[in-house]
Amino acid sequence: MDEYTIKSRVVGVEISNARTTYAIVDIRGNILAEETFDTSEYPNVDQFVSVLSEKIITLVEANGGYESIRSIGVSAPSASSSSGYIVNAANLPWKGVIPLAVMLQERIGLAVGLANDAHITALGEQAFGSAHGMRNFIVVSLGVGVGSCFFSEGREHLGNMGYGGEFGHTCVKDFGRQCGCGRQGCLETYVGAKGIVQTACELMEESDKPTLMRDIEKLTPRIISECCDKGDELAIEVYRRTGYRLGIGLANYASIVDPEAIILTGGISHAGKWLIDPTIESFEMHVFGNMAGKVKILASELDDRERDVLGASVLAWSVPEYSLFK
Ligand SMILES: [Zn+2]
Repeated sequence: MDEYTIKSRVVGVEISNARTTYAIVDIRGNILAEETFDTSEYPNVDQFVSVLSEKIITLVEANGGYESIRSIGVSAPSASSSSGYIVNAANLPWKGVIPLAVMLQERIGLAVGLANDAHITALGEQAFGSAHGMRNFIVVSLGVGVGSCFFSEGREHLGNMGYGGEFGHTCVKDFGRQCGCGRQGCLETYVGAKGIVQTACELMEESDKPTLMRDIEKLTPRIISECCDKGDELAIEVYRRTGYRLGIGLANYASIVDPEAIILTGGISHAGKWLIDPTIESFEMHVFGNMAGKVKILASELDDRERDVLGASVLAWSVPEYSLFK
């Protein structure tokens, strides 16, 4: 490579509690190479960062070389883009404060940008998905945790410390269910994965109605939505209650932000109409009257993993290029 080679590629990394995906992405958003491994295999964060760094370097060397890579963007739960730290992640194997951006930068020698997973998801939706061309929108991630990010006049709102958008930890019930964050009654305890399963268990205790769910040893939101597909009334009621609470949360959120659209992403959004229909019904019932009927509530049309790796690549382009001389 000559000294004027233009760095036309970045690396996008998505870290979740289950898996870590890393990919080389070109300037047009094409994924050129991608690999995945289990995050849970590395309970020690130093070991995790070393292995991730080695794997990224190996992938880069096999696909065009180090000189073509400009920077790295990383998505992780409970990450702050302003500090580059992961802080007290409830859903990751590593506890406390982890300066992940610096750790990766020291090992790989490229600029590293870090942002929380909901922010990255929103960047992906803005660049490649349902939010393309929108200036005011909310993206909500529904999975083990419930995160969000909103854009105002085309720019993401991250907040003073970079924690903005913690939608899952807004209180929806005084002295309600115990949350992993230490508080009670958080939205996440009702519409996150564990919360939905808890609602199913409560409903089965309350009711004598026959349901396919009773025969299943380990319920998940996906299995419950499959029961809905088979016409299981109690399973449909699980999502109706979930959508009702989510609709109230979204109505409060929208009443403050006044978005053009709310885009639902993440594994739980794949329940489709079983979740979306009651969510819209409750949203319209609770949102500020002038906004009723005017805010689009959409399910993401992108593949979650691909979108998040691409979103991380969008972040990578925005970080200043690394130089030993700066
Ligand atoms: Zn909480």
